[in-house]
Amino acid sequence: MPLVAGNWKMYKTVADTAAFCAAFRPAQGVDVVVCPPYTSLAAAVESGLTVYAQSVHWAEEGPFTGEISAPMLVELGVSGSIVGHSERRQHFGETDETVARRAYAALEAGLGVIACVGESEEEREAGQTEFVLRLQVEAIADAAGRHERLVLAYEPVWAIGTGRTATPDTAQEAHAFIKSLLEVPVLYGGSVKPDNAEELLEQPDVDGALVGGASLDPDSFASICRTAATIRS
Ligand code: PEP
Repeated sequence: MPLVAGNWKMYKTVADTAAFCAAFRPAQGVDVVVCPPYTSLAAAVESGLTVYAQSVHWAEEGPFTGEISAPMLVELGVSGSIVGHSERRQHFGETDETVARRAYAALEAGLGVIACVGESEEEREAGQTEFVLRLQVEAIADAAGRHERLVLAYEPVWAIGTGRTATPDTAQEAHAFIKSLLEVPVLYGGSVKPDNAEELLEQPDVDGALVGGASLDPDSFASICRTAATIRS
């Protein structure tokens, strides 16, 4: 079954979340996950959708201001978490090591994990894509292994929120490389929209999508979910 996850980033209040959940009609034949900000997790869980957080700390509790632990998410009925999103790596000092620790702790607590990897534009232009992906994937693989609740997301940084989607060939090539390092499902993320979802999800090693901007609108997100269900199930 394909997986389509919506990363809402720092968008949607509790009221916005309730309105989204009331309007969203998920398709059959696809696992759908929404990843609201922490303040909206409970409202999304209440609606009956499968809910992931956008990050999770590795400690169960402690002096980590601004962080949330895996047991806290479990208590809310949250099913998993994204870790290592490039915005966390770029703006909040996330490293391959901290991403791996977060992934391990979440899996240990019984949560699912979507671990993000992806090269920057400079790294791609310098021919370092595989080098960077290898470092990122191996850090996660060393910590978590081939876990049944672990999914990777290939998110080229230059394609996130830019409208510059990777071509289907570029995505396929990166996904095949990632799977040669760690055999788990790999989602594609980076400007996925209703009108480009089909050509991306048709690629043999694209097992679903991690959707940012287009997941904020219930109709657009439902359309991408339907496409995934039609192509990959
Ligand atoms: C993301 O933030 O994970 C993402 C893929 O964003 P967008 O779809 O907006 O590029």
